[in-house]
Order: sequence, then structure tokens, then C-alpha cells
Amino acid sequence: MNFIFLGPPGAGKGSLAVKVAEDYKIPHISTGDIFRAAIKNQTPLGVKVKAIIDSGSLVSDEITCELVKDRLSQPDTKKGFILDGFPRTIPQAEMFTTICPDVTVINFQIADDVVIKRLSTRRVCKKCGANYNILTLPPKTEGVCDECGGELYQRDDDKQESILHRMDVYREQTEPLIDFYRKKGQIKDIDGATQTAQLLEEFKKLFPAE
Ligand code: AMP
Repeated sequence: MNFIFLGPPGAGKGSLAVKVAEDYKIPHISTGDIFRAAIKNQTPLGVKVKAIIDSGSLVSDEITCELVKDRLSQPDTKKGFILDGFPRTIPQAEMFTTICPDVTVINFQIADDVVIKRLSTRRVCKKCGANYNILTLPPKTEGVCDECGGELYQRDDDKQESILHRMDVYREQTEPLIDFYRKKGQIKDIDGATQTAQLLEEFKKLFPAE
């Protein structure tokens, strides 16, 4: 079971992916998470991509495709995987088709105003990466992760200016993928505004675990 979770930033891809990965026992591969870990660990890749990511622009196709190819060559992906945040451009999708033609694309549909509100109120754990929302999913103690006690912070790219830029980037570079995959008959639309728990139930009905 190979899935691509496609949708604008803040559409709920990551939240559903975490739950599906747990239930289906397949890895959740978020290119954004991989880049953020590289930045945190100050690896050569992290140093190279930090400014691009903070601004909300996209890392080059070349770097991103190499990273994904490498990750997908690992044995834990053999039974399936969820790609969250990849592909994000037509060249990335074309490359991915050559290495993995058999995939189902889940297209998260959501209105711009919901995305803006969600992203500007999102907080992330510095230590384990768990996501919170100060309005809809607050931690038990303000600023502290329920899971690991780590400090919560606001991603630089979740600040107003970057959010608007990321939405433009999505529209220009990623939205064309909807047509790309629709033409191939590989897409399933879902409502990103629905609560994650309900989306998970819908997902399980659509794709019963093997
Ligand atoms: P995300 O956590 O998916 O919102 O990704 C955070 C940032 O990482 C994006 O705004 C991009 O700068 C970078 N990024 C993640 N995935 C990709 C991708 N497939 N192609 C290019 N850049 C990416």
C-alpha cells in the first residue's frame, strides 16, 4: 500500500499520516520532517536548505528526489509507505512514477482561510516533532509537549509572511499534480477540514488493511 498525501500546507496530511502509519504499520515519510531534522542536526544538507525552508520556498528537485530515492530504498518501505509533502512539483512526480508507478494519491481539499488559521496557531515540539494547535489541540501545559516534555515552538515558516508565500508556491507548483494524477486515475479526494479521527475511519473503510 503506497500512498501520497497531497494538499496545501496545513491541510492535515501530517496528522492523518501519523495515525495511518501506526494502524497500517507502514512508515510515514515526510520530506519536511527530514529537512527539519537535517537543519536541527546542522548536517551539510541542513545548512544548505535552512534559508530556503524558512522562507517557505521549495528545495530543488534534484536534492529532494535524491533524498526520497534514498529513503525508499530502505527495507521498511517494502510493505508500503505514506509520502507526506512529496512530490510537490511535476518533475518530482515524473521521477517518482519511474521508480514507483503503483501509488494512491490522497488529495486533501481545504479552504485557504482554514489553512491560514490552522498554520498560524500550530505549535511543534522541538524534541519529538509532535504537532499541537493552541486553539484546537492545546497541550496539557502551555508550551510543553504532552508526549516528551519538550519545548513547543512556532515554525519560522508558519509565520504570516511565509504562510502566504507557501500557499502561492502550492498553487503554482504543486496544485498541477492534482490533474497529473487525476488523468492517471490514481487520485482520491478527501475533506481536509474534517477532524483527523473521523478521516482515519473513512480512510480505513476505503483502504482496508491487508
Ligand atoms: P512541510 O513540512 O511539508 O510543509 O515542508 C516544509 C518545507 O520543506 C517546505 O516549505 C519546503 O521548503 C521543504 N520541502 C518539503 N518537501 C519538499 C519537496 N517535496 N520539494 C521541495 N521542497 C520541499
